[in-house]
Amino acid sequence: MKKVLIIGAGGVGGVVAHKCAQVPEVFGEIMLASRTKSRCDAIAAQIGRSIRTAQVDADNVPELVSLIKGFTPDIVVNVALPYQDLHIMDACLETGVDYLDTANYEPLDEAKFEYKWQWAYQERFREKGLMALLGSGFDPGVTNVFCAYAQKHHFDEIHQLDIIDCNAGDHGKPFATNFNPEINIREVTARGRYWERGEWVETDPLSWSMSFDFPDGIGKKKCFLLYHEELESLVRNLKGIRRARFWMTFSDNYLNHLKVLENVGMTRIDEVDFQGRKIVPIQFLKALLPDPASLGPLTKGKTCIGCLMKGVKNGKERSYYIYNICDHEASYREVQSQAISYTTGVPAMIGAKMMLTGDWKQPGVWNMEQLDPDPFMAALNIHGLPWVEEFR
Ligand code: NDP
Repeated sequence: MKKVLIIGAGGVGGVVAHKCAQVPEVFGEIMLASRTKSRCDAIAAQIGRSIRTAQVDADNVPELVSLIKGFTPDIVVNVALPYQDLHIMDACLETGVDYLDTANYEPLDEAKFEYKWQWAYQERFREKGLMALLGSGFDPGVTNVFCAYAQKHHFDEIHQLDIIDCNAGDHGKPFATNFNPEINIREVTARGRYWERGEWVETDPLSWSMSFDFPDGIGKKKCFLLYHEELESLVRNLKGIRRARFWMTFSDNYLNHLKVLENVGMTRIDEVDFQGRKIVPIQFLKALLPDPASLGPLTKGKTCIGCLMKGVKNGKERSYYIYNICDHEASYREVQSQAISYTTGVPAMIGAKMMLTGDWKQPGVWNMEQLDPDPFMAALNIHGLPWVEEFR
């Protein structure tokens, strides 16, 4: 009987708790801990299995250590915010427990996605015989595994990669983000970056776009080039890669609101004086925007996230597209969350399952594409994120 400690009771944490509860043969005992215990209790009340809940400040390592020592989990699943990653990794090292997250560490005062801080833990995890799995969401996460699967089965070399993320859902609100607004807006308003012939090329925020015809009735949508964290590890780990880019769809309505918020300074991440106290505008904005978890019952439509690749197999050029379609309303019926939280929470549960069953147990700090994709790909089909592949 294995025990899982889930940290973070937001949209994603709720899905991870539901999905772990569906697999009692692996997750024998579950604890959900977060900054606000009442949110953990509300999620636990939705689930037809007993789940322990706790309050924890995940920025406080001694507090984390005492929680971990009390519950003695086999794995900690970190679905709080990226700012907490290093503190939770420190607590795992101190208590001798494996670690998993879905987003790479980011300093609070700088919108910068880089793996260097977490890769620096490699030796410490290896020496202790512990494993840290980084980025086990959808993107990063499943997108990395799609690439590893393509590299293992369909290509000798992948030369071009386009990761294309489409949310064709509609929540009916004038403006809302589908996951943590602060993290989402920091990501979207940052400068774009892609990999071309051995170096990073920077672009102005949201200045490059293309049209892509999505499957399953979604149709043509405009996609914008963004920097996304999985590119950093993929360009290291994919053999022969020459170009790697990431694209995301946004509606004109979303972009217009974002532009105005940016123009008036509401997306700033530095402190400003307000009536004698310091506030960070983007944190204030988060307080005004709809809680992503509240969008669950409102959102209709589908997401389509996939990888389009070109490369060679047996000396012949080949083009390949692999994707998942996820339906917002079906996700809500199953776990009371919309598809963005669902597509992140399911792979987090599967990553934890891979580690607990030993399919993916190896000491050190790993990105998803560094492990055998086959058992993970099989688990996606079983646990609610089936994939489709097309040779084009
Ligand atoms: P939410 O903001 O909905 O939830 C975050 C949760 O973490 C909240 O419950 C919050 O507590 C808790 N939390 C924040 N700070 C602390 C702290 N110091 N100590 C304890 N708990 C804390 O975010 P999401 O659920 O949307 O996202 C969760 C993570 O998933 C993020 O890191 C995000 O970047 C990542 N993500 C990854 C994706 C992928 O595909 N790889 C896609 C989408 C998200 P409180 O309730 O008190 O605010």
